[in-house]
Amino acid sequence: MGHEVAGKVVEKGSRVGKVEIGDFVSAETHIPCGYCYQCETGKRHICKDMKILGVHTDGVFADYAVIEEVDIWPNDPSIPAEYASIQEPLGNAIDTIRPGNVAGKNVLITGAGPVGVLAVGVARVFGATKIIVSEPNRYRRELALEMGADEVINPLENNLIESVQELTTGVGVDFAAEMSGNDKALKGALKSVTAGGSIALLGLPDEEVSLDLTSDLIFKGINMIGITGREMFRTWHIAARLIKEERIDLKPVITHKFPLEDYKKGMDLMTSGNCGKIVLIP
Ligand code: NAD
Repeated sequence: MGHEVAGKVVEKGSRVGKVEIGDFVSAETHIPCGYCYQCETGKRHICKDMKILGVHTDGVFADYAVIEEVDIWPNDPSIPAEYASIQEPLGNAIDTIRPGNVAGKNVLITGAGPVGVLAVGVARVFGATKIIVSEPNRYRRELALEMGADEVINPLENNLIESVQELTTGVGVDFAAEMSGNDKALKGALKSVTAGGSIALLGLPDEEVSLDLTSDLIFKGINMIGITGREMFRTWHIAARLIKEERIDLKPVITHKFPLEDYKKGMDLMTSGNCGKIVLIP
């Protein structure tokens, strides 16, 4: 969408106090109204009148972009720019894994796109015991392993639910993070969660999904959590700390770097799926 960014402030509005010209910054992409019920009750990341950078405003696939002051995130100058540029999706991964309280637990992540592989790294650093990843694309299964997954499953060749049962001695996982938007992955993930466990949904299905709520959620006492973006700015503090203190290795996630003018090459590669994050450099 053109909303994951790191750059330098070259101009600022006369009343902007949060940054100075020359500062190294990134940006949150949710532009909250500041006045609705959600904004006034500490949930501005799910603002009722939300605008999104790169969707409702011009994005950052350009040499210069305008960022709202509310969204500016001053970076520590010691962080490499390419890592600073993916703090926004790292925040998606953090907010998806965080409600799982994964320390000491077995975790399933369905979908190893860029955000899914970031979630593998987050689950690892948050102390998960066994991380199982389901992903049809071989390239991305490899990335998941590089980021610290213990087991990878190809759901096109193996039954996800049976595989998870085998890998968890028949118990199922304590927590699942659905990061593909695929309905089969969502249904399989829900069935793979042990009774009393929880599941967080980040992936966006294109259409309505029907679930067996009686058997798979209600009678199992499962907690299902929807994730939108990142909490502003608690999640950013976590992401920035993990990067600065080198608690998470983002090297495997950034698989390609191109000059900005080669954006089409980057888009085609992204469509092919044989990549992690592709960084475009102006
Ligand atoms: P992506 O499309 O690059 O990755 C999705 C991955 O899921 C792909 O690697 C694909 O091969 C895999 N997949 C497809 N079918 C599968 C199946 N049956 N089982 C397991 N994996 C399967 O997307 P991304 O950038 O990594 O983002 C992940 C998801 O999160 C997307 O659905 C995206 O739209 C969504 N998203 C949501 C938010 C939010 O605020 N809720 C924010 C960012 C992204």
